[in-house]
Amino acid sequence: MAKLIKLDKDVTIQIKDKSEEYLTPDFVYIPFPPKKEDLKKEVHIKKASMLYQDVYSPVSGTLKSVEKNILSNGEEVNCLVFLNDFQEKREKTYATRKKINNLSKQDIIEGIYNTKIKEKLLQDGLVTFLISGIDDEPYIENEAFLQREHTKSIADTIDALLNVYPKSRAYIALKNTDNKTIMAYQNVLGMYKNVEIKLVEDLFLIGKEPFLKKYLHMKDHDVYLKASEVYEIYLNLKKRIPILEKYITISGNGTTNPMVVKTKLGVKVLDIFKKFYPEDLGDCAFYANGMMQGTVLDLNRLIVTRDLDGIIIMKKVKRVAKKCIKCGKCISICPFHSNPLLAYKLGMQVKCMHCGLCTYICPSYIPLYQYLRGDKRE
Ligand code: SF4
Ligand code: SF4
Repeated sequence: MAKLIKLDKDVTIQIKDKSEEYLTPDFVYIPFPPKKEDLKKEVHIKKASMLYQDVYSPVSGTLKSVEKNILSNGEEVNCLVFLNDFQEKREKTYATRKKINNLSKQDIIEGIYNTKIKEKLLQDGLVTFLISGIDDEPYIENEAFLQREHTKSIADTIDALLNVYPKSRAYIALKNTDNKTIMAYQNVLGMYKNVEIKLVEDLFLIGKEPFLKKYLHMKDHDVYLKASEVYEIYLNLKKRIPILEKYITISGNGTTNPMVVKTKLGVKVLDIFKKFYPEDLGDCAFYANGMMQGTVLDLNRLIVTRDLDGIIIMKKVKRVAKKCIKCGKCISICPFHSNPLLAYKLGMQVKCMHCGLCTYICPSYIPLYQYLRGDKRE
């Protein structure tokens, strides 16, 4: 694996300290798998009712129609359109648990809604947990905000997990530049045995599982969770609800008001913009999920799903691609040492995690990313 690098960032882009909320949308739009058109119009659904595997209704309301919208990767999908009745009525209501550190392993596994998270916890014996509290895209700070606003809940959940895996340990990885989150943990972690903070350098991609494990000399079978997944476990076990909301970051040099917004899943990004950015954002490009790993998209039909982390609004800069000077920088910077020129020149498939580093480093401004991903990045 290649050596990770520190990116040049625009330090004038500063996200305001407190997150905003957009939790009362009139409509939510839930993507559904192609052949799953068994829900009929005017069906009434309760909040948190399961629509299909790992997907739950974020509101109570009525199914009104089906319409096409787009996901963060640009894919067009059919969505169920629900009119919110603002009653917030739930299918089944379980009492919130007073505490979660007395749960058995079976209680924990059964209480988790998300299949992928559940599978990670099926190990027996000694477990080392690696919790990544790192945002891996410049100008996106969801993990940092979530940890600062829910530090105790995250620590309680880690403690509950350690109780059912005797003699286990947990490490929370944070960037050594993220002072606010480090301080938030320092204020609570004294109470928790076997939970330790590991500081890492501010390198691009360092929060991703293989890179973080390598950097911290951890083993492949150690259990990796994002801080947001730990908080999801907390909601499942303590509040007994699936994840229905998430943080997204809206920032970039095209706005004077960068922020993190807590919103319902299924909301249209345009509705969030109408509330917080009613002004004309001028001649900007909107990068869903960031400038490095994301895609330039039209916001009109983009919806908030679990994998949308944010929108980076950037003033458009006209860069004309020049001839390749065969410097080889794109190959040497690639985490896999893949040759993106094979995709660019010959349309070949190369091993690629769509990190955007080859485009970032190219002195000739060649949009390699566009060829690797097939999107319309400018
Ligand atoms: S986008 Fe793909 S080819 Fe380019 S550096 Fe990243 S992994 Fe390598
Ligand atoms: S970094 Fe750009 S100019 Fe250099 S070899 Fe790769 S494509 Fe060509």
